[in-house]
Amino acid sequence: MAETNRQPLLDPVWPRLKTWLTEAISRARARGETWPVQPELWTHMAEAALAGDRAGLADCLSQRDETQTDPLDAVATQFETVLDVLSASDLPPDSDLWRGLMVCQGAILAEATRFTNFSAQPSVAQLRTLIEVSREIIAILNPETLVEQVVALMYQSLGYEYVHLFLLDATGQRIILRGGLWQGQSADPGDVRVLRVGEEGIVGWVAARGQPAIVADVGSDARYRPHPALPHIRSEMAVPLRVGGRILGVLDVQSDQLDAFTEADLFVLRALADQVAIAIDNARLHVSMRRRLHEQTVLYETSAAISANLDADTVLRAIAAKLTEAVSVGGCTISRWDLESDMIIPVAEYLVPSSDNPSRTWRTIGQAMPLNNDPVASQVLQTNRPALVAGRKDKGMLADPSPWGSPGWKALLAVPLHLESRIVGLVELYDRRPSRQFSADEVQLCQALAHQTAMAMERIRLFNETRQRLSEVSELYVLANEIATNLNLAEVLDAIVRAIQRALACRGCCIFLLDETSQTLEIKAAVGLKLKWRDAARLSLGEGIAGRAAAEARPIYVTDTVQDPDYIFFDQEVRSLLAVPVQVKGRMIGVINVDERVPDAFGPDQERLLTIAAAQAAIAIENARLFSQVLSEKQRTDAIIRYMADGLLMLDRRGVVVSCNPALTTMLGMSRQDILGQQALGPGVDHRLRAICEPATVKERTGVLAHEVEIPPSEPEGEVVTPRRLRIFSTTVNDEVGQPMGEVRVVHDVTKEREIEEMKDEFFSTISHELRTPLSSIQGFVRLILEDEVPDEETQREFLSIIGRQAEQLGQLVNNLLNISRLESGIFKMGREPVHLLDVLQRTVSKLRSIAQAKNIAVETKLPSSLPPVIGDEGWLEQVITNLVGNAIKFTPEGGTVRIGARQSNGELVVEVSDTGPGIPADALDKIFTKFYRVVDDSSERPEGTGLGLHIARQIVELHGGRIWAESCVGQGSTFWFALPCE
Ligand code: ADP
Repeated sequence: MAETNRQPLLDPVWPRLKTWLTEAISRARARGETWPVQPELWTHMAEAALAGDRAGLADCLSQRDETQTDPLDAVATQFETVLDVLSASDLPPDSDLWRGLMVCQGAILAEATRFTNFSAQPSVAQLRTLIEVSREIIAILNPETLVEQVVALMYQSLGYEYVHLFLLDATGQRIILRGGLWQGQSADPGDVRVLRVGEEGIVGWVAARGQPAIVADVGSDARYRPHPALPHIRSEMAVPLRVGGRILGVLDVQSDQLDAFTEADLFVLRALADQVAIAIDNARLHVSMRRRLHEQTVLYETSAAISANLDADTVLRAIAAKLTEAVSVGGCTISRWDLESDMIIPVAEYLVPSSDNPSRTWRTIGQAMPLNNDPVASQVLQTNRPALVAGRKDKGMLADPSPWGSPGWKALLAVPLHLESRIVGLVELYDRRPSRQFSADEVQLCQALAHQTAMAMERIRLFNETRQRLSEVSELYVLANEIATNLNLAEVLDAIVRAIQRALACRGCCIFLLDETSQTLEIKAAVGLKLKWRDAARLSLGEGIAGRAAAEARPIYVTDTVQDPDYIFFDQEVRSLLAVPVQVKGRMIGVINVDERVPDAFGPDQERLLTIAAAQAAIAIENARLFSQVLSEKQRTDAIIRYMADGLLMLDRRGVVVSCNPALTTMLGMSRQDILGQQALGPGVDHRLRAICEPATVKERTGVLAHEVEIPPSEPEGEVVTPRRLRIFSTTVNDEVGQPMGEVRVVHDVTKEREIEEMKDEFFSTISHELRTPLSSIQGFVRLILEDEVPDEETQREFLSIIGRQAEQLGQLVNNLLNISRLESGIFKMGREPVHLLDVLQRTVSKLRSIAQAKNIAVETKLPSSLPPVIGDEGWLEQVITNLVGNAIKFTPEGGTVRIGARQSNGELVVEVSDTGPGIPADALDKIFTKFYRVVDDSSERPEGTGLGLHIARQIVELHGGRIWAESCVGQGSTFWFALPCE
């Protein structure tokens, strides 16, 4: 029967419905939607049900989800999915397709109930209601309207007398009546019905368990809580509103009849509850989506305003404007809470420009208000919750809201500004409408924006701080760069004052340096200062501001020089002065001053910057000082090395010559280029250099080894040069960690010393001979006389005169030695009297003439009639002439001639002594004046001597400021000259 009834009804609808559904399913799938069950399964069930194919239906139902024990639950879930799919499609709500859908569902249920022993069948009216409700509610997006509609339909279409729709609150602890109808009248007009979940009423029980309940007799059910207004209720049926396991609320119907509700009623109510739950969820989602969208739009716009600008005033004003607009009020203020002073400081404000809007809020931007006098802020900051005063006439939440309302505001919403757990201020929204209420959503939005505001404030603060630090750092970087690369103290100081003046943008900056000996501060560099003050400012420690900063080793800031008794007025223009000490490792080296024309020009930022700059300056100044010290030391050392008589050579660890001095190049007769960079002991290196660099063998003293080498003459074809004897001292040089880094070799030319030593040896043998010969002859003659072996008096006299001559020779020798030691000691005083050399010459010649005559030597004098006197010591000059003339007579063989002349020439008196003696070899000419030197010549017999006469002569002449020289040709005689300055 049923089959034949249904077929015609569905004939025209079903194919369309199926197509529609199939398309909707594939569209939804394309969007990526998934469902707990296959919506196609419902289509198969519908087809099976419509065809009366019970086996097919059973087959479909057997494919249900394992968790669903009740086949009807499975049918309901599948239908929910189909509704989900279709509600997102554009199926017109009033089309007959919806009706067809419901009929199909009805058919499925009818068949399913049949074979699942489901006794009760829903009535046609009930099914219609289901269809209508579903159709209605799917389109409703406002939760309140939805609730109203549902209860109205339950009353009107399903015919229940007492219907209720309860929803859980946000905590899930309580369930609140949101809508209800009692015999067509709005339910519960007095108080709001609130039940505790799981504890109160059938509704509470259903909400806790998530299971439906039919109570045939409420009187015998302990769970039942009678409503005071409904004492006549006898039975009750309640089903949960459930979406995906979440319980949203409960649909509840009551009756004044006992056992008024059947299983079929329960089926319909459950089906309805499922639709309603989905609809409520959707509507809520929609609302929250809309709110979120709104919030996001506002937040986005706000953050866009913030990002675009980091100027605090602009940003905060933009936020205030956004808040005002978003919550739709007349004005807004944003205030900062200064924890230290416990003050509220309004930082930004926005007022909607309109004729009836008050022209200001009760706050004044920038004017701090103690928190104690600020009831709004006090409450918000203490409770850390928003404060609302909904209209002036309301009692409101504030104890004394009067001050904020004085400009004419009627409603206030104040929310705290949070930054993590810190409260940093508050936002206040004002409205002039007395009726203005603030909804939970508005409060929530305001809080979200307040959070944004706090973040923006923090960002601005951080940005400004970073910018400040950045500019400091970059200034300091520039300063450090400028001064670190320079080691000229004056330039460093100049760079410092200029960099600081630039960094602080101040009028003037100067650096005092402390003079350690006088303990005064003197300006060494300044910028922006008048020249006269620059030179005048010299301060003792403790004197003036800079003096005090140095004495007390701390920055001193004079906010107004006019007010400070310590300030010494150099420049009347200066009103603010900041002095920071400059110290190096705790040692005061100076003070940096900055000044400005206006009072109180500097703050803690400037002080910090200046302190850092002073620390940098200290290092730079110290470096420059050290550098100049090192430099002058290096210059000194360079000069010493350059001009030292000894040769110096430095080898690195590999034995490469890295340094040498001019003395060395002269000694070796090599150029600097030929020496530097040479591997000293490498193959092919010059033998002279190799000789110097050979390993030293003799330990001279601790850490110093020595060896001696003989360097052959470098230019063999040139003039005759004797080989040089060089003594080389070698010292290892270590670096600061004690690792050897090379060797220094000091080369001492000992040629002369060795010669002198040789001469000395010769001298000693000579002198012993010279002494011994006369002594032994004296001894011999004396012995003969004493032993009376001299027969006659004449012979005796002759012997005595020999003794006398020998003694005189001895005396002369001893005199010569004494003279030398006197001359060399430098302690005796040479007389400074006018000396007439002509007299001296004549006297000497007559003194020596007898000796010459004895050798038959002619002594010729060629002297002018007069000569100007020379200043000097007559005795010593006579010694010079005696030595020269004596030598001439001594070396000239018998029959020769000695000539003596004198003349005045170019301010000098020149004496000349020439002879016809054996002459002197060319290579000996410059040596004959050195001590102990005697020409050794095998070919000719030369008279013996001590090699002292010419040395003494030279010493005397030079001590008179004169010079002595000789010319000679071997075999042709010699000529000696000496010249003395004369007036
Ligand atoms: P001494 O004559 O006692 O050896 P001197 O200092 O007077 O010492 O002279 C140094 C040397 O110079 C002499 O040994 C001699 O070889 C050389 N000499 C000095 N005067 C003459 C001279 N007139 N003719 C040749 N040789 C001389």
